[in-house]
Order: sequence, then C-alpha cells, then structure tokens
Amino acid sequence: MSVPSLLRAGQDRGVLVEREGSLLASFCADREKGSEAVSPVAIVWPCPLAVDAYAAAGRDVGFPRPACPSCAGPLVFWSGYWRYAREAGRCRKIFVPRLRCARCGVSHALLPAFTLAWRLDVAETVGRVLAEVAGGGCGVRPAAERAGVPYTTARGWVRRFRARARELGVGFAALAVELGGAAVTPPAGAARFALAAIGAAFAAAAGLPGWGRLGAWRFASSVTGGRLIAANTASPWYVVGRRRLMAPVPP
Ligand SMILES: [Zn+2]
Repeated sequence: MSVPSLLRAGQDRGVLVEREGSLLASFCADREKGSEAVSPVAIVWPCPLAVDAYAAAGRDVGFPRPACPSCAGPLVFWSGYWRYAREAGRCRKIFVPRLRCARCGVSHALLPAFTLAWRLDVAETVGRVLAEVAGGGCGVRPAAERAGVPYTTARGWVRRFRARARELGVGFAALAVELGGAAVTPPAGAARFALAAIGAAFAAAAGLPGWGRLGAWRFASSVTGGRLIAANTASPWYVVGRRRLMAPVPP
C-alpha cells in the first residue's frame, strides 16, 4: 500500500483525526515530499529497539503505557495506525499505537524515539544531516547524498532547525542544567548553540538509567515529543522520564 493510500485509509478509519484538526490540515497543505502525517499530540517513548526489530514485532512491541501528558491520569490503548519509517534508504512499515485518556477525552499517538513527528526519515538520519550541515562541516548536498535522502528534504530539515535553533538551544541548555549537567557556553551561531546544547543535555541524561543507549537523536526526539524540527512550536515540552520541563522563553 502506498504512503498516500495508507494515510487516506487511516483517515477513513478516523485514526488520523486529531483534536487539533486545523493543525493537521495546515501541515498537510504545506508538507514537503518525504514527510508524513502523524498525530500533533504525539508522545514519544524512549524506544531502544533497532528499526528492523520494531517493524518485525508489528503490534507486539512491548509498548510502555505512560501517564496522560495533560492530566497525568491513566491512559488505555486505543487502536493505532501504520506508518512508514525510512532508514538507510529503506522504508519499513511500523505500528504506532494510540493511547486514550478518558478524563481528557483525547488520544495520543505513541511514537518510538527513532521517529520524528511528521517525518518519514528516522531521527538518526535527520540528526546526522543537522550535525553535519548546521555544525558547519559541509553543505546540504553532500550530507543529503551520504544520508540517501533527497536534497530538498535535507534542506527542509536544516532550514527548520536553523529557524528553531535559538529556542532549541535555550531549551536543551536548560534541560542539561536541570539534569545536573554542565552549563553550555553558547558557541557563535544559534545552530551550533542548539547542537552543543543537545549534546550537553544528552550527556547529562546518559547518566540516568536507560537513556545512554538511545543516542543523542532518539533522546532529542523523546524529550521534544518528536517535534525537534516541527513547524508548530507553541509550547515544546522537554520530558525525561517523569520529569517535565517547560522550555524557557529565549531571551
Ligand atoms: Zn488526560
């Protein structure tokens, strides 16, 4: 089944109908090639599985059942949908369960940390391109070629990351300190600051059980709810375990 028909089928079943339908609609209107619609109210869990292992397990992945991010009440599994994840040029179909909060009347997609919301490519691929290009190591074209993704897709990631860099830098730097890590001395340039802050926050989180093996980019997806390079950034959360930090407003 193609990605568009899968999405349509999902919409027909109602599994892509979101609390914030307008968000999804506006996203679909301008989404770039290679991206994919998922819930704007996603929860990302720190999944350590390889993409192949996750895909092979289908619906039988040992999914966690976190508390509701809005009210901390219990969530129950509530259907789910299939989407694709692309790694090393290969697309795998993966199952994304949905969790529903009876109290809030809202359902949340439970994404594995190797995904980013609305993105087909896995977090490690996106992160590698961001680190290479935004870090100043090379241009978009060679990074895209190495990652095996279209130039325009990689360019879109980098543009979005740069547009959000100051906010991400401030948020991750605060998270690093919150987790007992080192304060980040901002290097020249917002994008390098964001990269340094993500690195510092991950280094601090790696001292907590389970986080070290995820790698920096799964960590970054987890704590931003998959919104590392999402368009809607009204209130990014940075969540590690049960701890949650509202990012400070950039100065
Ligand atoms: Zn709730």
